Amino acid sequence: MKRFLITTGPTREHIDSVRFLSNGSTGATGFLIAEEARRRGNEVIVVAGPATHPPPRGVRVIDVVSAAEMCAAVLANLQWADVLIGAAAVCDWQPVRCAAHKLSKLDGFSVEWVPTPDILQSAGERKGERLHIGFALEDADGLSKAADKLKRKNLDYIVLNAPTAIGSRGGAYQLLARGGGMWHFEYLTKEMLAALLVDLALEGETALKG
Ligand code: C5P
Repeated sequence: MKRFLITTGPTREHIDSVRFLSNGSTGATGFLIAEEARRRGNEVIVVAGPATHPPPRGVRVIDVVSAAEMCAAVLANLQWADVLIGAAAVCDWQPVRCAAHKLSKLDGFSVEWVPTPDILQSAGERKGERLHIGFALEDADGLSKAADKLKRKNLDYIVLNAPTAIGSRGGAYQLLARGGGMWHFEYLTKEMLAALLVDLALEGETALKG
């Protein structure tokens, strides 16, 4: 039995009481990993942004909205976890200020943006023996960008996929390991990917050979 801490869904970065920057992530991948890990007798906490995919039963879900909230929830539960999987589509930018009221057309529109905290990178600085797995969604030059993120975020593995993965049932995936290993999967459904990552977390790389 292992303890899985999983992020999923998009984040929302509010500029006023009703408007926000976000993306079309449904949260399916993280919730399917959570479901598979739970089904196999593991303990699971999911930190979820505003996702449309239904959460699985028997899993504790911590609902958050922004990247900053997601980061705080992950760091608060990090020591508990044996495995951290960052499947969330975290927004890269947050506004410097969020207006307490709904901005009017008359206010004009000028927002100053700053980078959101990098959750996996912060967690990577406190990694210890925990297994860390991240995702990279890239449309060009994917392999070198994923390899760079693997290193910068101090990950054990990174899953590379294309932007068409958002809202789809599955697609092509590449898995890169800290140790230099690389596996290419022509087509996996998100359920198959979830099973593969849980196998990897529980059994190590021998699980990928079959
Ligand atoms: O840097 P990039 O957004 O491409 O990295 C993707 C990976 O890092 C995903 O696993 C995502 O969940 C995670 N991430 C994060 N915090 C951020 C941005 C991305 O944990 N601010």
